Amino acid sequence: MNLVRYLMESRGPVNALRRLPTIARRFGLSPQRMERALQEFAGIARGHGCKPTLAVTAVLLERYPDVFRRLDGAAELAVHGYVHTDYSLLDDAAQSEHMERALSAFRSLEISPLGFRCPYLRWNDDSVHVAARYGLVYGSNRALAWDAIGPDDVGQQAWDAYEKGLRLYSAGEAAGRLSLPSRINGLIDIPASLPDDEAMVDRLGLESADRAVAVWTRMLDMVYERGEAMTLILHHERVAMLGRALEAVLQRARAQDPPVWAASLGEVAAWWSDRLNWRLHLERDGDGVYRVSGPDADAAAAIVRGVETDPPGRPWYGDYRLLPARGFTVRSPAAPVIVVEGGSPPALAEFLREEGFVVAESGSEGLRVGPCATFGEDDKRPLLDTIERSGAPLVRLWRWPNGARCALSVTGDVDAMTLVDFLRRPLEV
Ligand SMILES: [Zn+2]
Repeated sequence: MNLVRYLMESRGPVNALRRLPTIARRFGLSPQRMERALQEFAGIARGHGCKPTLAVTAVLLERYPDVFRRLDGAAELAVHGYVHTDYSLLDDAAQSEHMERALSAFRSLEISPLGFRCPYLRWNDDSVHVAARYGLVYGSNRALAWDAIGPDDVGQQAWDAYEKGLRLYSAGEAAGRLSLPSRINGLIDIPASLPDDEAMVDRLGLESADRAVAVWTRMLDMVYERGEAMTLILHHERVAMLGRALEAVLQRARAQDPPVWAASLGEVAAWWSDRLNWRLHLERDGDGVYRVSGPDADAAAAIVRGVETDPPGRPWYGDYRLLPARGFTVRSPAAPVIVVEGGSPPALAEFLREEGFVVAESGSEGLRVGPCATFGEDDKRPLLDTIERSGAPLVRLWRWPNGARCALSVTGDVDAMTLVDFLRRPLEV
């Protein structure tokens, strides 16, 4: 059942057979070639001060314990299923059994994974409940597709194959969503960014590293402009082909000022779970003077625009200035807060607070938003765009540590170490 579904939903049995020689060349019969690729992957990321996250199908830890013992430390290891199956088809009991076996494989190498990514990015609510119950703290399963490439770049046939892949992954469109971590059922969820290497090479037909460089750097530029998070996925079997593209993205990230925070998924999850609890408070301290106080954490940063502050802070991004979030004084004729009009759902104000704004009661002075009858995922981006465009004076607790503009995580899914592993995958349920 799993095999049939896999073949039908991925690229069809004929296509799968046609790809066999390419796959044989990629993997090899012993794990040496793929271990070199994993180490090279980790080396490129570490060379740019970034700890990569590799989600490993746990049965591979049982097959090649030494490979992963050597890799642990160079990369953060996460769970990519016990076997490479479609977990969206399994219920809570079955997924618990798989998680139990997966974690025991990790434990026997004295590795404690913090998070998981499901094979094929396919998951259900039970996947999240099970992961939280077994003590994991993050997942990276929701996928967002970025407009870094279009049908005109690759031709209609390749584009159709890509869109089929996006449906398989239930990917949302990054253009209308926020590519940010969120807390879902007790777990920090960090969205994966598409296209990944597999989509670029096998679906979009981009065989050259140069074209991959163009797509991924365009994605990084969009994420940077929006101040969000990018989770790049590169499978180790394509490091030989696209390692240069990974290098180019990391180089571009390092050249930015304000900086890009290159971090593992575990580091992003730890930061975000603290960050979600932090708020900025604003107290009036005379005419047009406000005292701002925030979290007592060195890395926490506040951004301001259209106001004078003491201390003055330093120029940051666009018209914003950067200050330590712990405390400062603001001088502004207009209150640098957002007022949610009465009758709006509580989710609206809650979202703005999580986004670091100071939210005031209806009737106060400040930038007015709402009223609206409903507020959901699709309303978040337009709301932030409206606030941004308003030009109103604002203070805000920023999303990322130490004044970084955005976050970048470099990740890979380790599904197979040899051709035999690859061929066995669809048979393992
Ligand atoms: Zn996989």
